[in-house]
Amino acid sequence: MFMRMDRLLIDIPRLKEPDPNAAAAIQELLGGKFGEMSTLNNYLHQSFNFRGRNKVRPFYDLVANITAEELGHVELVTTAVNMCLEGYTKPGDPDDAPLKKGKDMRNSHHFIASAQTSMLANSMGQPWTGDYVFNSGNLVLDLLHNFFLECGARTHKMRVYEMTDNPVAREIVGYLLVRGGVHVMAYAKALEKLTGVEMTKMLPIPNLENKAFSETRKFEEKGLHRAIYRFSPNDYKEIDKIWNGVHPEDGQPLYVKDGPPEGAPIPDLEEKPEMFSPGLSSEEIEELAARLSRNI
Ligand code: MN
Ligand code: MN
Repeated sequence: MFMRMDRLLIDIPRLKEPDPNAAAAIQELLGGKFGEMSTLNNYLHQSFNFRGRNKVRPFYDLVANITAEELGHVELVTTAVNMCLEGYTKPGDPDDAPLKKGKDMRNSHHFIASAQTSMLANSMGQPWTGDYVFNSGNLVLDLLHNFFLECGARTHKMRVYEMTDNPVAREIVGYLLVRGGVHVMAYAKALEKLTGVEMTKMLPIPNLENKAFSETRKFEEKGLHRAIYRFSPNDYKEIDKIWNGVHPEDGQPLYVKDGPPEGAPIPDLEEKPEMFSPGLSSEEIEELAARLSRNI
């Protein structure tokens, strides 16, 4: 079962100017083949369907626990898309076409199918699909796939980073490059323990350290490239049988941090009358709040 916290993994900056085309590019990291929906659902279903979990508990614990972090990544990327769109159009008389500015943006679904919020789709608007989930039930094969998936995800993040210098995009991609690097290494280490093959000798893939991306630095300075969060009050305690030793780049110890990161408040999205969202006037919202507080 799952527990939820009404917090975002990191604080993200507010934009001076909305940037819908950056939102379209970031969509790839949400609903693309190598996006957060794919990492989440691969690990989620592999953990649900894991055979022999009690005999190889550290591997089950690793996959099940990383799942929880990926759900937070889905939330983070979704919020980044939303914040790039926020404030782009203004309310107005329908006859004056208040959504006109959306017409020429790359992803017109943001202005028609959603209320200027994220879609479960990639940067070209193609929907995310369960075909992106690989769950063979063979532990080595699934871990090998997860290693490949994280390396592919890293490539896409690096390219989105190079597509836009939008501060929201840069902040979340910087963070996700660091966290994705942890997951690449975690699956590499799991495969090493399982088979004896020295997977970490291949890293990083692509062969460019995170340090080349300036927005990763502050997260690495906090040691986030060496930590796995244990996203449970009492469970998944055998991750440290896999996640141990030192980081190959700086020689500093890898560690399991008990509990989730501190996180940050989730930005509140403003009402959008021109999108009919949430579809209540300010007066109706105030009256509703007053009625609920009186328990009527
Ligand atoms: Mn992720
Ligand atoms: Mn990951």
